Amino acid sequence: MRIAILGGGVGGLGLAYFLSRHAPTPLRIDLFEEGAAVGGLAGKFQHRGRWFDRHYHVVLASDRHLRGLIRDLGLEAALTFARSRSGLWDGSRIIPFDDPLDLVRFPYLGWVDKARLIATILFCQHAGDPEGLHAVELEPWLVRLGGARAFERVWAPLLRTKFDGAFDGIPATYLWSRIRRMQSTRDTGGAVEKLGILRGGTHALVDSLTAVLPQTGDVTIETNARVTGLEPEGRSTWVYVDGREPRGPYDVVVSTLPSPVHDRVARSGGAAARVPVPDRYLGLIDVVVVLERQLSPYYTLYLLDPSLPFTGVMETTNLVPGGERGGTHLVYLPRYADAAGKEYGQDDETLKARYVGRLFEMFPELDPGDVQGVYLFRERFVEPVHLVGGAFPVFPESLETRRPGVYLMNTGRLYPLLHNCQAVVAMAHRTALYLLERHG
Ligand SMILES: Cc1cc2nc3c(=O)[nH]c(=O)nc-3n(C[C@H](O)[C@H](O)[C@H](O)COP(=O)(O)OP(=O)(O)OC[C@H]3O[C@@H](n4cnc5c(N)ncnc54)[C@H](O)[C@@H]3O)c2cc1C
Repeated sequence: MRIAILGGGVGGLGLAYFLSRHAPTPLRIDLFEEGAAVGGLAGKFQHRGRWFDRHYHVVLASDRHLRGLIRDLGLEAALTFARSRSGLWDGSRIIPFDDPLDLVRFPYLGWVDKARLIATILFCQHAGDPEGLHAVELEPWLVRLGGARAFERVWAPLLRTKFDGAFDGIPATYLWSRIRRMQSTRDTGGAVEKLGILRGGTHALVDSLTAVLPQTGDVTIETNARVTGLEPEGRSTWVYVDGREPRGPYDVVVSTLPSPVHDRVARSGGAAARVPVPDRYLGLIDVVVVLERQLSPYYTLYLLDPSLPFTGVMETTNLVPGGERGGTHLVYLPRYADAAGKEYGQDDETLKARYVGRLFEMFPELDPGDVQGVYLFRERFVEPVHLVGGAFPVFPESLETRRPGVYLMNTGRLYPLLHNCQAVVAMAHRTALYLLERHG
């Protein structure tokens, strides 16, 4: 069987890995990646001769499928877990927000509102009906459950920064899935949150997959290979790659491209997705500030200050054992933004100057001499956004396109789960087994 995989992120590479590992007879797999290197959202950048993740990435203790892959690739020893601390920036100071006592001390809510906030979190931890919650809009649901004050003072500022201002039509599953995922990061007493980080970054997983794939079977990886179209021929499909001869014909094509890109590429081959998800995407601007010294002890700072242009402050090196930081501290300033919007459209230097300027205002003790470098990475399609009333993807129907033999396996299909490497690796594994059963 000849298989083409479109896209070389964790999803495409993971699919190639599981297909070749489980196939009873060797498969011929060609993977096409538009970028100069594979990795997609889990890609890397170089600073002073060392490689770092372009975007902050952590592993959770409960990431069973991801940890299984890490183990299979012999990277287990490179995975370390450390206490992760969170805080809330209220516009003038950091309020610790990572253990139950912090909630007791939280200054912006009275006792009744705090109790309702806890009830909201407990409800999400125990509610088991995501399809029911998909039909309910987040804002009125949160106000009903936790009260108007908790909504205005805590949830609304966080949601505004996360959704580039407006969160109308977002379903209750949004909070449900986040709270459930983060629940597993707590120890049994619930007091300490621990997160894992791969030495060398998540791209160590990508590098390892890339190295191992050619040895697992007949797998080729082409980079700088932008797929522009598909062409049916009988039961097979040709893949058109920008500026190159058509490739194929393939018995099976699996696209891992974001839905708008897939639909554009697949139009010619009549292979649009059958399940129209997600309803839209948010893009991302991620400014990475490389510092000589630690900024704060927090891994995450959530922001209650709407004037800040970024969504949070993520200091990933707080999870890395001291000796391995090598005098380098990484602070990520992500901003989720509509790729067609004004913020996304600004040039790199303007954005860097504004984001770093605001960071200096937050931390006046930061000295310009502390900054080793500032980098900016943009992604057009990052966060799949699902709306109340939108389709609810169910595996394996959600993989289907209008053309037999062509499938779509992207992060839009994970809903109501969040998109992360654990969910993507699990989906890739499941998809590989499904395809081998159906076509093998
Ligand atoms: C800021 C941020 C923080 C994150 N934090 C975490 C975390 O802490 N833990 C975690 O597990 N996950 C995290 N994630 C999520 C994780 O990175 C993604 O879920 C995962 O990498 C998605 O992989 P993918 O292969 O599905 O998609 P992608 O990585 O988007 O891969 C799609 C690939 O397709 C390629 N492509 C696009 N168009 C074409 C074309 N026409 N032809 C050929 N190729 C094309 C792209 O270049 C890309 O390489 C984070 C993501 C971001 C952005």
